[in-house]
Amino acid sequence: MSVLPQSVEKVINEFSKLPGVGPKTAARMAYHYIRSPNHDAKKLSEALSHMDENVVFCKKCFNISEEEICDICSSPLRKKSKLCVVEEPLDVIAFENSAVYDGLYFVLGGVISPAEGISAEDLRFKDLKKRVNEILGEIEKERLEIIVATNPSLEGEASASYISDMFKKEVKEGTIEITRLAMGLPTGADLEYADRLTLKRALEGRKSI
Ligand SMILES: [Zn+2]
Repeated sequence: MSVLPQSVEKVINEFSKLPGVGPKTAARMAYHYIRSPNHDAKKLSEALSHMDENVVFCKKCFNISEEEICDICSSPLRKKSKLCVVEEPLDVIAFENSAVYDGLYFVLGGVISPAEGISAEDLRFKDLKKRVNEILGEIEKERLEIIVATNPSLEGEASASYISDMFKKEVKEGTIEITRLAMGLPTGADLEYADRLTLKRALEGRKSI
């Protein structure tokens, strides 16, 4: 028989599924909500259900959004001739918070990682191709710059090479230029945690690949 009431155990079990949270932290989090006098548990559960019901992936860039097309993709102020390819929605937030980028994004949904069994088919490369063709149609004679902003890890580099192979023909024809963020970012760093200045330098120093 467990010492914990089943309802508490259930919550601990759910918290343990969170990234970076072990059973001990999960238990501490559960106790926090038990002790909380402000109906915080109710507020948390309502916020989570609201998010679950309302958040979707933008149909163009696959960033998280409450609309079919996100605010960035639908903004007339964003430059369509720049497409920044990132791993996760959190990377978009890092760029947006740093306010150093005025183009569009595309969220791959991860990186190629044979060690974790993630191949190109598991990521949104086909959608990327589709989106790039769509943009090329919209910008007509302007050249599209694809800025590959995957993390500076082995997997991030492999994904960058994959993208550059995907658009070899277009690069040759001069309709697309592919650039990679400058390595002001230390190898193995996570874009999501980069500060504004580091991101700005990485973006300004980007080079063709
Ligand atoms: Zn979007």
